[in-house]
Amino acid sequence: MSDTFKALVLEAADKAPSIQIKELNTTDLPEGEVLVRVSHSGLNYKDGMVLKGLGRLVRHYPHVPGIDFAGTVEASSDPRYKPGDAVVLTGWRVGEAHWGGYAQKARVKADWLVPLPEGLTARQAMAVGTAGFTAMLAVQALEDHRLSPEDGEVLVTGASGGVGSVAVSLLGRLGYSVAAVTGRPDNADYLKSLGATTIVPREALAGAPDKPLLSERWAGCVDAVGGDMLAHVLAEMRYGSSVAACGLAGGPGLNTTVLPFLLRGVKLLGIDSVMCDHDTRVLAWERLTGLLDASRLDAMTTEIRLEDLPDYADRILMGQVRGRAVVVMD
Ligand code: NDP
Repeated sequence: MSDTFKALVLEAADKAPSIQIKELNTTDLPEGEVLVRVSHSGLNYKDGMVLKGLGRLVRHYPHVPGIDFAGTVEASSDPRYKPGDAVVLTGWRVGEAHWGGYAQKARVKADWLVPLPEGLTARQAMAVGTAGFTAMLAVQALEDHRLSPEDGEVLVTGASGGVGSVAVSLLGRLGYSVAAVTGRPDNADYLKSLGATTIVPREALAGAPDKPLLSERWAGCVDAVGGDMLAHVLAEMRYGSSVAACGLAGGPGLNTTVLPFLLRGVKLLGIDSVMCDHDTRVLAWERLTGLLDASRLDAMTTEIRLEDLPDYADRILMGQVRGRAVVVMD
């Protein structure tokens, strides 16, 4: 087996880091118990930020980004993994504080890996990726807070994005009526094909609400947007319902009042996919595997190469990627 491999490498530069595709050697890789032959990686909003040098997520260069990947174990000093095992990795600040998946090989801690569930291919795992895994955690959190299909419509914001597309698909599969918020009306048919029952134009929820409480509409919400849209959604939540806050595609601020919490018992549930524990991960991946419809997953997937990433980084930050982009290693 060759020790050299292709990687996307970021080097420190004046404004944004420079991006180069380079040949590296396994001796260049950081320490870790498991060497993985990466076959697929994902493109997430955070990858866009890392590729553009935003948010000071990367402190040390040169850096190999890629916050999630799937592949096969090539070597392992940890008894839990042996060569040939199929694995998936999301989170643990891989691709930010540690070298990540935009390379044909990655060396990581065994604790960070999850065995690829039977029935899921590496490509499918990255079609799900961090975004889809987060959507599963969000749906799980809503259910843990007693959401069930007969409660009424569940809202998904940022619906055409990665978190949103998988959330729509999972909720649809679980029998919920799903209202999908999108700023891209052209994606209405796509969202309906994933399981959305209603399309809500972004303008309907844009901007802070003009009153702290509006008519009660939503039985639950998976929110990938944050900002004023989340403030608006909170004002429209039904009595006793919950919002799973996953993302900040519309901004990190939250200018609201406590009235939805105090007068309607609304719950704001924080969702973190990065540091969540191993058992939660294994369960979430198993459930995803059982729930996801292969053809819907395929419909939300675009295959790209390492060379396409500079362009796709701009696109994801501008909210222009539909569903999930999967990076296929040659
Ligand atoms: P995407 O870019 O794929 O999706 C975001 C979607 O949000 C866009 O497709 C767009 O959907 C919508 N959107 C974009 N900009 C705005 C805006 N200004 N106002 C309203 N809607 C907007 O990103 P991901 O799905 O990968 O991630 C979504 C968010 O979730 C990100 O903020 C990301 O950082 C976060 N995240 C958090 C995780 C966690 O552990 N908590 C893990 C993974 C992601 P449309 O065109 O349909 O309106």
